[in-house]
Amino acid sequence: MSDEVFKEGGPYHIKRVGPDKISMQMSVPADADGLVGRNCPNDGCCPGYFKVKLGTGITEGQLKAYCPYCRHEDEPGGFLTAAQVEYAKQIVLHEAIKGINEGIENALDLGPSGRKTYGGGMFSLEMSYKPSSLPPVVPPMEEVLRRDITCPHCGLQHAVFGLATWCPDCGRDIFLNHLAKEFEAIRKMLSDVDRRREALGARVAARDIENALEDVVSIFEAAMRAMTIRKMKENGSSDDQIQEKLRKIGNKFQNVNLAREVCEDEFKVQLLQGLDPKQIDSLRLTFEKRHPITHNLGIVDRKYLEKVRLGELEGRDVSVTPQDIIMVMDVGTKILENLHSYLFSNNSQ
Ligand SMILES: [Zn+2]
Ligand SMILES: [Zn+2]
Repeated sequence: MSDEVFKEGGPYHIKRVGPDKISMQMSVPADADGLVGRNCPNDGCCPGYFKVKLGTGITEGQLKAYCPYCRHEDEPGGFLTAAQVEYAKQIVLHEAIKGINEGIENALDLGPSGRKTYGGGMFSLEMSYKPSSLPPVVPPMEEVLRRDITCPHCGLQHAVFGLATWCPDCGRDIFLNHLAKEFEAIRKMLSDVDRRREALGARVAARDIENALEDVVSIFEAAMRAMTIRKMKENGSSDDQIQEKLRKIGNKFQNVNLAREVCEDEFKVQLLQGLDPKQIDSLRLTFEKRHPITHNLGIVDRKYLEKVRLGELEGRDVSVTPQDIIMVMDVGTKILENLHSYLFSNNSQ
């Protein structure tokens, strides 16, 4: 009976391809935005999860796909998520149970009524078969990823966690595009501050600006960390060595001067070279306003006053304007682009 469990054809294009082998085709369901989940098969890759929009990017003759985080190469079908594998197994099980039910009905020759009566007169035997119910097939539940991007080289629309580096289709370095996309979101938030001030009041507008500064510093730090990790990996450092280094760096990348020192020690690169000293100064001051904002809810503390010596009175709100933050993003972008080109310009991708 094993032969007849899976009937050829049907919605999954079942085909017998060997004595104990069948092939089935099923498409992976997409989310509401038309993106399908992908998972890096490299066990050590973190976060490893991303999404791509089928039909964009490389649509013909694609032999290889890449992980946007670690650039692991595999055939395009090699990036299935756990939920997709589970979905495929459920469909196979569903089809198998359907085939077995039909097989038993046919073997017993039960006919469409599902019943058969043997004998007659005084002695008769009725046989019926109640097929087991089919298990439900649940479509894969995928994560919601909000960082969507289109590769400027091949046009692949995809979504990732955090700051990724590689395009999953063409494998090129699109780190700076991710970075620009992050800053673009903050620019959009800032452009709405006046409207929110009118609608929701000055305090909400001030919090929006403070949050934007907080986000800019976090992005700067994340980008510096991502480049440090990548460079150390390229130089052959082990994961343990990288973790140890990051532990030592701590939160130095949140401070422009300390970030400069780390880059000098680590990569022999002058992080702020070629930049206008005035711009660097206002970048440093704006970055440092984050400390009292984060830790004292916008109230200037003594340590901050000593550090910045701006003459702002203790207890007054730290003033940061949308223009300050736009300046920080512009200068910050320049710094990060310089470092990226210095560290990775020889890279073949
Ligand atoms: Zn990976
Ligand atoms: Zn691409």
